[in-house]
Amino acid sequence: AHLDRTAAVDGAVHAFLHVNTDEALATAADVDARRAAGEELHALAGVPIAVKDIVVTQGQVTTAGSKILQGWVPPYDATVVTRLRAAGMPILGKTNLDEFAMGSSTEHSAYGNTHNPWDLDRIPGGSGGGSAAAVAAYEAPLAIGTDTGGSIRQPAAVTGTVGVKPTYGSVSRYGLIALASSLDQAGPVSRTVLDSALLHEVIGGHDPLDSTSLPGQARGYADAARDGDLAGVRVGIVRELGGEGYQEGVRARFEEAVALLEQAGAEVVEVSCPSFDYALAAYYLILPAECSSNLAKFDGMRFGLRVEPADGPATAERVMAATRGAGFGDEVKRRVILGTHALSAGYFDAYYGSAQKVRTLIQRDFAAAFDQADVLVSPTTPTTAFRLGEKLDDPLAMYLNDVATIPANLAGIPGMSLPAGLSDDGLPVGFQILAPAREDARLYRVGGALE
Ligand code: GLN
Repeated sequence: AHLDRTAAVDGAVHAFLHVNTDEALATAADVDARRAAGEELHALAGVPIAVKDIVVTQGQVTTAGSKILQGWVPPYDATVVTRLRAAGMPILGKTNLDEFAMGSSTEHSAYGNTHNPWDLDRIPGGSGGGSAAAVAAYEAPLAIGTDTGGSIRQPAAVTGTVGVKPTYGSVSRYGLIALASSLDQAGPVSRTVLDSALLHEVIGGHDPLDSTSLPGQARGYADAARDGDLAGVRVGIVRELGGEGYQEGVRARFEEAVALLEQAGAEVVEVSCPSFDYALAAYYLILPAECSSNLAKFDGMRFGLRVEPADGPATAERVMAATRGAGFGDEVKRRVILGTHALSAGYFDAYYGSAQKVRTLIQRDFAAAFDQADVLVSPTTPTTAFRLGEKLDDPLAMYLNDVATIPANLAGIPGMSLPAGLSDDGLPVGFQILAPAREDARLYRVGGALE
């Protein structure tokens, strides 16, 4: 049914870069046969899923939305994918994204825009716009995204879906093509909080193949989502997220969601995180610094594209320059240049060093706020989905979409966006919940109570 739906609507939505019809049907048939034979299978066995095309899949093309990886077939599976396969989940295909997950609109993909199913002239968010659009358009019931500064939560917000960024280190990064290694985290996209909880339990838990993987297993999320009891739960409204610059309809839906939490028994308090004013600036130094290093491996020798210089000798350096010049898009080049500059001798302390200090201040703000509240809440994004092309020529306006999502990545804490109804423009609004590190279950308890 999902493959049929995809065939019918994906020409207009363009959520997928590759669809794996044969493999998905074979997995589904295998699960059916095992169930018929009486085998006890996972609750999600046979439930199909779409995977963001920055997560490697053995034998299936993985591009990260970049020309530099056009046609590249990974020789191994990411741990997340290994776990989906082990649970018997058919992988429908790979979804569109901003190149190497840099962006907030999926307009920076080398393979064309994804359209928001609510209004095809609007962006589906980014970088994981393909995963969110696939779920919103009923092409897939579930998807995997990655969130470095908001790329699961922001697309979820603007497409009316649920998206979860787990605690840093709680879902393996093995086999995620790295954007910024200290910030990246894979997580679920779904239509309900309970669906995300079930998927999170499948993909989470310790992985010896990831050196930053936390010990322990991913348990208790589905139970928390089903619980619904908020008696005594302290909910903190973050003063710095949600005031000026936020669309009126976004603020109205946010306040209604807070009132619902209060009705369900939660105690609402206000908290202040003054360092959040500097989060965006710090992020746009730390992320380019890390990505300039991570993307150095795309050199025309090891992976994908190789371009010979137009004239003159094909030295290693000249092949590298020709390949990267042709293979990377403008946003990737902008960040590699920024990051290389921020890390260079003479500028390192002023830029990268200062940004790391701000990161510590943000972590302290969160620690103080979580003394007063069990979870923090805010709108996920300042506005609903904007029009395709509207912010493409204005990188700063594009970056501002992530003001409310970025602090969680800088602190390594978990966050969820869930639908809070429609704004006055008829477009979905996202409600963000944040919890202390390793307390992901709180997201599901509070989110589940709202559902
Ligand atoms: N939009 C943010 C950026 O461009 C977030 C990206 C992400 O989470 N992958 O960096």
